[in-house]
Amino acid sequence: MPQPPHDDVRGFLPDEEGLQLYHWARETAALGPLLEIGSYCGRSTIWLGQAAKEKQGLVFAVDHHRGSEEHQPGESHHDTALVNQRGEVDTLSMFRRNIEAAGLEDTVIAVVTRSAQFARSWSGQLSMVFIDGGHSLSAALSDFRAWAPRVMPGGILAIHDVFPDPAAGGQAPFTIWRLAEASGLFEPLKSVGSLRGFRRIAA
Ligand code: MG
Repeated sequence: MPQPPHDDVRGFLPDEEGLQLYHWARETAALGPLLEIGSYCGRSTIWLGQAAKEKQGLVFAVDHHRGSEEHQPGESHHDTALVNQRGEVDTLSMFRRNIEAAGLEDTVIAVVTRSAQFARSWSGQLSMVFIDGGHSLSAALSDFRAWAPRVMPGGILAIHDVFPDPAAGGQAPFTIWRLAEASGLFEPLKSVGSLRGFRRIAA
């Protein structure tokens, strides 16, 4: 069984949602590489990575590591422990430390750039895509358009922070969840908290 990430691994993913990510990743990891968009300090990456490691798979963990809108100074989720000597939000060293401590350095490949930039140089299919990047509408749409089509048949698309009720949270992840549902390319899987999944239907 997987180990929940250590308590000092910062993040916004409850363990029950992480465990579901682990199960989906374990189901698909032997089919091809996994992609995570939005790693922050590695909490979800550790769940995905443990599954991939069991299956000799790989996780590409994409994050510019400069924090999303809500992580910037003065914003709701700013964390002063994640500010570098130049005063910038910088989650990369914390991410590296956490991945190393979890024994996942040979499984998790950190890709330090914006996901749209990485998409320009990636041509293959993915066994699983987990979208948990920027939560502005433009960021969520960009991630969805770039990566959802690259989930291979039988693979899984997972989206975090899906809140149908606007009072519960921002609507961008819910918007792309609805797009996936309406696309005819995916069948819904279970949801756990704000985590929702789809399986890509075979062409
Ligand atoms: Mg999230």
